[in-house]
Amino acid sequence: MNLSSAFSIDPQSTAIKRHNLQARAIIDAFNAGRPKRVPFKCSEWVGQHGFYADEIGLDYRAYYTDPDLMLQVQLESARRKRELPVHDMILGAPPQESWFTGVDLWPAVAPGAFGCELLYRKETVIANSSRHLSVEECDALELPSIESGGMIGTIRRYHEHLVGNYENKLSFLGKKVDHIQNGMGTSGFFSLALDLRGEAIMSDMYENEPFVHRFLQKLADWSDALTRRWAAPRDRHAPFPLTDHGTDMLSPAMFEKFILPILLEKNRDKLHVPQLFHHCGRGQHLFPIINRHFKLHTLHALTFPLLDLERIREEVGDEVHMIAAISDGIVNLGKPDDVRQAVKMMLTPKLKGRGRLTLISGDLLPGTNMENLHVLYESVKEFGEY
Ligand SMILES: [Zn+2]
Repeated sequence: MNLSSAFSIDPQSTAIKRHNLQARAIIDAFNAGRPKRVPFKCSEWVGQHGFYADEIGLDYRAYYTDPDLMLQVQLESARRKRELPVHDMILGAPPQESWFTGVDLWPAVAPGAFGCELLYRKETVIANSSRHLSVEECDALELPSIESGGMIGTIRRYHEHLVGNYENKLSFLGKKVDHIQNGMGTSGFFSLALDLRGEAIMSDMYENEPFVHRFLQKLADWSDALTRRWAAPRDRHAPFPLTDHGTDMLSPAMFEKFILPILLEKNRDKLHVPQLFHHCGRGQHLFPIINRHFKLHTLHALTFPLLDLERIREEVGDEVHMIAAISDGIVNLGKPDDVRQAVKMMLTPKLKGRGRLTLISGDLLPGTNMENLHVLYESVKEFGEY
């Protein structure tokens, strides 16, 4: 594999040294529970490379069909993140723990297992269309094997190839690639219902309640089995995830009728275990319900200003770690002053509370506006102090 042999920046230069000292101080203070200002972080995951794809003109059709290229892009984009002074991140050095790598067919894993048509596009990430099955077809639907069904078989082939060739064999910028993730999982059982039944599931909620209950239960059981089968051994007993990318369209009443009972039943032994709740996009109205029934330690990817973060802070209290992002619409399409104003409006004393707040840059998809990301970082320095 053709990989860079060095960072393109000089970690000994005065500017990089100063950046690293500042970033280290901010991160250490936050971790010690005595933050000086809100940290601005780059949350790393395998799909976070659009900004780098723009730089090199990556063809995403090749990325999704060639596991070697997949790994190469993940590693090189992780290097690139460590060259750009736009986050509280240590530059010019590999990560302290591991390079974050893995098979990346998100978010098409579960729909791909169920035979949804996949859309491969040059400029952007993989997607799928809904099968728009009838009620009868949904009831008769055979669940794909969690060992080898559809896309699951592809993922396993990719994973075996990558582990066999590179895991603990490949070194990158002085650090071994020591753990390549398998990338199995779903975006939530209701999202999967939308992939299979389509938007008709919404009217089914009013016209055919028994069908919705039994279909969602079937998909939740399958999702649960898939996740536990492929989770790392230490994660097999983790709580059933509260995250579901489709649920923000539901009214509180429909969420409480169809989704909540499954979440409660799946978590019946773990209601005391504090959970992470990833919730990007809209869905303000779901927080009081989630907060009433589950213990939370972290809210992840809360999007400003689509969500009223101050109200959520009031609901969940000062101890919950809120990890927030500013809407792509502002960061990618706004003028520099729009970005600065958004940061100013967002970082109120009430939201900052006693300091359990982190800002992240989001998924860094193709089309990420790097100039505005610089402005964002500078604005967090300006308005994020305690
Ligand atoms: Zn999300």
